[in-house]
Amino acid sequence: MRVILNGQVLPVNIRVNRDILITLRSLARTLHWKLDYDTTKELVYISTQNIAQLTERLPAILEEPESTRLTGKVICLDPGHGGQDTGAIGFANSLEKENNLAIALLVKDRLERNGASILMTHDEDTDIASTSNSQETAAARVSLANESHADIFVSIHNDSFADSQVSGTTTYHYGNAESARLAACIQNSLVEGLGTKDRGVRFGSFYAIRYTAMPSVHIEVAFISNPEEELLLSSADGRNKAAEYIANGIMRYFKV
Ligand SMILES: [Zn+2]
Repeated sequence: MRVILNGQVLPVNIRVNRDILITLRSLARTLHWKLDYDTTKELVYISTQNIAQLTERLPAILEEPESTRLTGKVICLDPGHGGQDTGAIGFANSLEKENNLAIALLVKDRLERNGASILMTHDEDTDIASTSNSQETAAARVSLANESHADIFVSIHNDSFADSQVSGTTTYHYGNAESARLAACIQNSLVEGLGTKDRGVRFGSFYAIRYTAMPSVHIEVAFISNPEEELLLSSADGRNKAAEYIANGIMRYFKV
């Protein structure tokens, strides 16, 4: 969460929690500040002076980079499924393709703010191969990643199982050491951050991570078939957190 005080971004990026928001709200009441938050963008605006200034600087603030830690890195993000292929359908009927795309776009924002160049296999609810054949779709995504010489390839998914009690996070790779290291960085960051059950880093033979030429992983963020985890995957707050920890895992991988 970033704090904008009288139109200036404070040099802190704190984790949002209920206590902080309650404290801020009561401070604002006591001191006659104007307080506003945008939970999807994780921004808190505080104005101790002129209320009109409050949100007018927003576009400039969002353009401001957080760091240059990932400058020069090209990252290919692959939101799983899309178009006719909905992926799994949740306990309360949310669609995996929508959760994947929303999380991937948030990961993109975070990585870009730290200097990375992002290539998306698709950035709206479509499929790049315009076909319902999942093998062809995967092949098109792989070619895109390979032709762009991306440094890493990250495919984002939701897990699903017949038993709605089953939960947790898994990250798959296709055997090479760098892919396994990337998978471990992302898996650890997600599990620590989200507090989900650690189902581990595993070998997986998914088409996209099998044929991409760079270190590649397939993330199953959580189970869409589990009511609690579906909420995590489909809510603005949960998606933001998932994106934050995936991005942190990627930064850990690059040791920046
Ligand atoms: Zn999937």
